[in-house]
Amino acid sequence: MIRFASLASGSKGNCLVAESGGTRVLLDCGLAPRETARRLGRLGLAPADLAGILVTHEHDDHAGYALAFASEHGLPVWLTHGTLQALADAGKRCDGVAARLIDSRSAFTIGGIGVQPYTVPHDAREPVQFVLSDGAFRLGVLTDIGTSTAHVEATLSGCDALVLECNHDLKLLWGGGYPKWLKERIAGPFGHLDNATSGRLLAALDRSRLRHVIGAHLSEQNNRPELARAALAQALGCEDSWIGIATQEEGFGWRELK
Ligand SMILES: [Zn+2]
Ligand SMILES: [Zn+2]
Repeated sequence: MIRFASLASGSKGNCLVAESGGTRVLLDCGLAPRETARRLGRLGLAPADLAGILVTHEHDDHAGYALAFASEHGLPVWLTHGTLQALADAGKRCDGVAARLIDSRSAFTIGGIGVQPYTVPHDAREPVQFVLSDGAFRLGVLTDIGTSTAHVEATLSGCDALVLECNHDLKLLWGGGYPKWLKERIAGPFGHLDNATSGRLLAALDRSRLRHVIGAHLSEQNNRPELARAALAQALGCEDSWIGIATQEEGFGWRELK
């Protein structure tokens, strides 16, 4: 059995928690330590229940507090060499934190959780995303990706649950008030996925085992939950209400694969 929940999702902070066989890990830590602990409490957990933190990339909404939280609670952090270097260059203090360097192509385990990192095109030093597994069920997490690749689609095919970026609606982005350079960055090949592209990615996967789909990392300015839901539901040919949405304030509650 593997279960997972989100503490927060969006440009103000991302944090997901997964648990299997008595092992619990955070995936990213973009909320301040006290807030991370408070939201863990909402899910019935405390920092002492964690085995460590997986970090996808150095952007603040994912790694802004990973080292601080790890240092405060004596947790190891798994991340790529590029992400560690980028955090160090940004002046994030790494002293006292056990950094476990990962190879973006090699699977490893943390207690009862199997971890498969995979590479994604995004404007960070060495970004990865993760598939987590208990050996029987697979949870694929994908945010912060500018464009889909064959490698991403092969990796996410056959997952039992997906947390999938639906960053923006293209019309809302281009019609909105962001400066042109920022719109181009977000919509570019190393930016973020729009709803329609997420839907196409989902449609391209082997979905034969899929039981949970959650839209994530929605822009508060350039998206609306109902638009993300509709795009993913259309790809699956399911009711909109079947699609979950991860929010900035609430994330989402426990989901279970067993
Ligand atoms: Zn992000
Ligand atoms: Zn990012």
